[in-house]
Amino acid sequence: MYKRVLLKLSGEQLQGKYNGGFDPERAAWIAREIKKIEAAEVVVMIGGGNYARGAQITGGGISRITADNIGMMATMMNAVALADVFSANDLPARALTSIKADQIADQFTHRRALSHLAKGRVVIVAGGIGQPYLTTDTAAVSLALQLECSVILKATKVDGVYDRDPERHPDAKKLDSLTLRQAVEQPDVRVMDKAAIALAYDHSQEIIVFSLLEEGSIARAAAGEPVGTVIRA
Ligand code: UDP
Repeated sequence: MYKRVLLKLSGEQLQGKYNGGFDPERAAWIAREIKKIEAAEVVVMIGGGNYARGAQITGGGISRITADNIGMMATMMNAVALADVFSANDLPARALTSIKADQIADQFTHRRALSHLAKGRVVIVAGGIGQPYLTTDTAAVSLALQLECSVILKATKVDGVYDRDPERHPDAKKLDSLTLRQAVEQPDVRVMDKAAIALAYDHSQEIIVFSLLEEGSIARAAAGEPVGTVIRA
């Protein structure tokens, strides 16, 4: 049983039945899944890929800085919508932002995040770290370290980490566990982007990769029961 967990949701998880954008029904389903967690406090790092990813929209005159700013604004749209849907589904939640947007959400500060958590609220963090050339995976590791989350629950489309890309290699094998060193050193084993996994390795941050859509999996992972792939020192 973990005391505090960081749930990393990519933007794609929020598009649900749509090809992009935000599906409130999917968000409500996620709220119900988070409510199954028995004791742990929950921090959510939200991605923005359902609207924009910096690396993909750079070009044609759009600089990488601008593209990443757009990506960070995309995470902001997800965070405020998610906080509303969570709260409307009896899961009190607050969005905090790492980019400045006073009219939209409170600025992320360490103290503010801890205060919401102490009041039983889910804290949803928008804007990643608030700087370009980063992803919300790296931001998730940094935030988990900062808020002393025992584990990062990385929700994905697949049920764990495979020895090769399972979408391209049908004979790829699922791994029940691996070490952070293996995750850093084996390029075929994809847990998170390189910067994110390197930061996790340096600070021995435990990560569990699992399938979001498998009912009860968030709660089982938060309870320390075997689910997906566990990556630890
Ligand atoms: N981003 C950024 N700095 C951060 C976090 C995110 O510049 O600290 C930008 C980056 O362009 C990224 C986009 O925001 O592509 C959306 O985040 P991400 O790609 O991680 O979303 P996901 O794939 O998880 O939906």
